[in-house]
This record gives sequence, structure tokens and C-alpha cells, in this order.
Amino acid sequence: MRKIQYIAVHCTAGSQRQTIADLQAEFKRKGWKNPGYHYVIALDGKITQLLDEEKISNGVKGFNSVSVNVAYIGGIDAAGKATDNRTDAQKKSLRQLLGMLKKKYPEAVIQGHRDFSPDTNGNGKVDPWERIKECPCFDAKTEYADL
Ligand SMILES: [Zn+2]
Repeated sequence: MRKIQYIAVHCTAGSQRQTIADLQAEFKRKGWKNPGYHYVIALDGKITQLLDEEKISNGVKGFNSVSVNVAYIGGIDAAGKATDNRTDAQKKSLRQLLGMLKKKYPEAVIQGHRDFSPDTNGNGKVDPWERIKECPCFDAKTEYADL
């Protein structure tokens, strides 16, 4: 079993109209063998698992081997600026999913992508894949401190 140290929270940094299929196509374009996240939450709160938790996804460079990555669809406004546009259903599902994961991996820290390192991927270089460095566009550490 993988030793999970982080439950990383992301936004997809895309349009709210983005579908799971759009996301998968984007990962493919990037040349990724595995998806960016284990779980994605749609606007209506529907949770889709993209990858087995035992497998490694491409969420936070340098930390993927010890992380489970979770994302909600959205996170940018029409101008492409970072914004917390989670729907109530997404907030509810996110909390539910994170609570479940925390129970499964009690040692793991829940934090936002940006909490790993604000502008970098942990090696001092800006990650070219990271379209917004505010990901997930809210303070996940504080919001889920009670989980
Ligand atoms: Zn992210």
C-alpha cells in the first residue's frame, strides 16, 4: 500500500462547463499516462474517480508518490482569473470525500496545491503545467482543519 502523506486539493483551472471527458483529453494532450487527479467533483456534486488510489496521479510535482489528488471543476472566471466558484453541491461533496479520505489515511495532511509551494513545484522551478498558482483558489488547510 502507498504511504499517503498528503490529500491535495485542486481546482481544474478550467471552465465550469468542462466535462470529465474534456479533462481526460487535456491530460492526454499533455502526454500524461495517468490523470492529474484521483477524484474530480462536477458542478452538481457528482464525484468521479479517475484513478485507483494505489496508483500515482499528476497533481503536485515532487509529491505525487505520497499524495491523493482531489479536484473540483472550475476555479477560474471568464477572464481566466483565479476565483473560488465552487457550487454548494461541490462544497458538500468535497467535504464528504475529504472526510472519507482522512479517515482512510489519518496521518495525511489535507492542503491545497498552493500550500506545497506557492509559485513552484517544490524544486524551485515554476511548473509549466500549472496554469494558476492560486490552486485551489481557497484556503483548504483552514476550511478542512476540522476533518
Ligand atoms: Zn492544482
